[in-house]
Amino acid sequence: MKAAVVTSFTEPLTVEERAVPDPGPGQVLVRIEASGLCHTDIHAAHGDWPVKPTPPFVPGHEGVGIVEAVGDGVRHRAVGDRVALPWLGHACGHCDHCVSGWETLCEEQQNTGYSIDGSFAEYAVADADYAVPVPDGVSPRDAAPLTCAGVTTYKAVKVAGVRPAERVAIFGVGGLGHLALQYARLVGGTVIAVDVEDAKLEMATDLGADHVVNARTEDPVAAIEALGGADVAVVLAVIPQVFEQALASLRRGGRLVCVGLPPETEGPMALPIFPTVLKGISVIGSIVGTRQDLAEVFELHARGRTRVVAETRRLDDVNAAIDDVLQARTTARIVFEP
Ligand code: ZN
Ligand code: ZN
Repeated sequence: MKAAVVTSFTEPLTVEERAVPDPGPGQVLVRIEASGLCHTDIHAAHGDWPVKPTPPFVPGHEGVGIVEAVGDGVRHRAVGDRVALPWLGHACGHCDHCVSGWETLCEEQQNTGYSIDGSFAEYAVADADYAVPVPDGVSPRDAAPLTCAGVTTYKAVKVAGVRPAERVAIFGVGGLGHLALQYARLVGGTVIAVDVEDAKLEMATDLGADHVVNARTEDPVAAIEALGGADVAVVLAVIPQVFEQALASLRRGGRLVCVGLPPETEGPMALPIFPTVLKGISVIGSIVGTRQDLAEVFELHARGRTRVVAETRRLDDVNAAIDDVLQARTTARIVFEP
């Protein structure tokens, strides 16, 4: 099978032939139909974060495909099922996080495309318990971005506890942000989309954003204050300064939801104590979502409540696609179709 492999943090990926893996006990073998390119894959390939994957490895944690074989003991997935292989590739299932519905915080988790080979390949094996069924009515091309970008922003809106008529500022309107703004609107929020690219802001308007702010040409804090301030700010950008702007744009009682993960070299964000205390600000970190969250994301999409903006590429063009993301030459998600 063909696979895109990270051999070193300083070299481009190599597209090479590998043996199709065998599913072990409790695993499924999935023939990949579509796999989205997430910024996390680029950080993984570059070894940007404190906990690094070990080359050689296959990135990709937005894989969607058809179960072709099942390992021993797998009873709830069958050959022919369409499944998604998300970032949370395995969790222990027994710790207090796992049993309380916070499997995404499990200390023993394994991550697809990071600690276990991912979906930038024609086939992948996965823990059957963490492969999430994709319902009829959701195409593989749409399901792929929903598997990380969708579930991550859906969870961010959930943990923010957005109430109808609250103002929600979304900082960064790309693969994640175009979905975040739709979830914020679904729960009744008024959406302010913030980005530095006019094309992305046009897409945000097209998808229902109530206000847009180009942070390159105007001060986003002043622009959001002029609208009354944000009740919730969701930060999907990967620059600490943007987190600081988002924090400053909050009104009293506001919640800052941190989602984007800057490279380690970017340093920390400043959290000024006085305004945080006096304004009663909450700062919340949110990482991906659970299998149940992803099932809900798929359900909403199957009912026609969300729109995925994506363009398809060949897996052979993986390095060009990464360049396009880094140079902001794409408006939304890139999806590989092997
Ligand atoms: Zn991701
Ligand atoms: Zn656990």
